[in-house]
Amino acid sequence: MNNKTIYDYIIVGGGLAGMLLAWELLEKEKSFLIYCDSEPASSNVAAGTWNPVTFRRMIPTWRAQEMIDKMLEVYPKVEKKLSVPLLSMIDVEKIISNAQEEEFWKKMALSEESKDFLESILQEITINEETKKLGVVKKTGRIDLPKYVKKSKDYFHNIGNIVFDTFDYSLLKISKNSVKYKTIKASKIIFAEGTYVENNPFFNWLPFKPVKGDILTIKSSDLNVRKIRKKNIFILPLGNSTYKIGATYHWSDKTWKPSEKAKLELLEKFEKISSCTYEVINQESGIRPATHDRRPFIGEHPVHKNVLIFNGLGSKGVFLGPLLASEFCGFLDNKGQIHPEVSVARCFKKYFKPRS
Ligand SMILES: Cc1cc2nc3c(=O)[nH]c(=O)nc-3n(C[C@H](O)[C@H](O)[C@H](O)COP(=O)(O)OP(=O)(O)OC[C@H]3O[C@@H](n4cnc5c(N)ncnc54)[C@H](O)[C@@H]3O)c2cc1C
Repeated sequence: MNNKTIYDYIIVGGGLAGMLLAWELLEKEKSFLIYCDSEPASSNVAAGTWNPVTFRRMIPTWRAQEMIDKMLEVYPKVEKKLSVPLLSMIDVEKIISNAQEEEFWKKMALSEESKDFLESILQEITINEETKKLGVVKKTGRIDLPKYVKKSKDYFHNIGNIVFDTFDYSLLKISKNSVKYKTIKASKIIFAEGTYVENNPFFNWLPFKPVKGDILTIKSSDLNVRKIRKKNIFILPLGNSTYKIGATYHWSDKTWKPSEKAKLELLEKFEKISSCTYEVINQESGIRPATHDRRPFIGEHPVHKNVLIFNGLGSKGVFLGPLLASEFCGFLDNKGQIHPEVSVARCFKKYFKPRS
């Protein structure tokens, strides 16, 4: 940290959400100071993949093409700035379950809505002596998210924009046009703490629905998977005979510790879609900052307009984050609106109780 005490923004949280905001603000030549502690973060375990298609209906997800366009603008810029490779365009291949699903895939792959995202010709593979069809999704890929976050934090540390400390909410003083935290003054403060938002007295009333996920790393010399293979779980090839197998979704377990039950669940599903020898070399877990309606929470506090939130990226942070961070920073600059589907304003009436 440098000796500066006046900033445009304070950012609390140094995961994907905080880093996306920091890069946007840097580009806009705004001054900011990030507070980040060393608690476990969802971004540090995420596989970092994206898939713009919902398999239930075989249609593109919300604003899919806009999200892709922004991702492919934002991540390569960061790669260049950090001089590290982070992005890989790698296809997703879905194992088709049955003839009905095959027919539906083929129909949707020719439809106006989905033709840019689904390959119409299915491929064949043999798994456990059974022939299976594979459908390939286009415009998919992966960011090495733990590396993105670590290298971004190193970068902001080197230029004096990050403090490695826990932000103490009780010390925040809010006045009409500024906020003050210890000796630091800023025009606005943005909270981006992932699931730790539960400790945040300004936004802990929002209906988050955190979901724990476990993920395994395995080594296998005879698992011949080159794309991201999906069916209930994913197999993500990392190179060097190493693969990530993930991920589970558990809503009741609120601990950050890897669970044996989750490991067994993943391996059972894995063995149904593979026939190889393997060794589990790592297991990690994290808690995704998901929300009740699966849309992020972005915008101003209902009372304190200079206290804001950028959170709720759920299980799709890599995909949603760049466009939403860019639109949010446009809003901060009075150059645009927050999309109503992600604006926190949608929760004011039902969930916010002003202090009397
Ligand atoms: C197993 C698993 C697999 C996943 N796979 C994918 C995937 O393939 N693709 C995808 O897009 N997403 C995936 N995700 C989801 C992804 O991790 C999230 O969307 C994203 O990383 C959330 O980022 P975040 O910054 O909001 O939260 P986090 O990454 O949790 O970061 C929050 C940060 O804020 C800091 N913090 C909190 N409170 C304070 C405080 N008071 N003071 C200082 N610092 C504070 C924490 O220390 C932490 O560093 C996965 C998640 C899990 C668990």
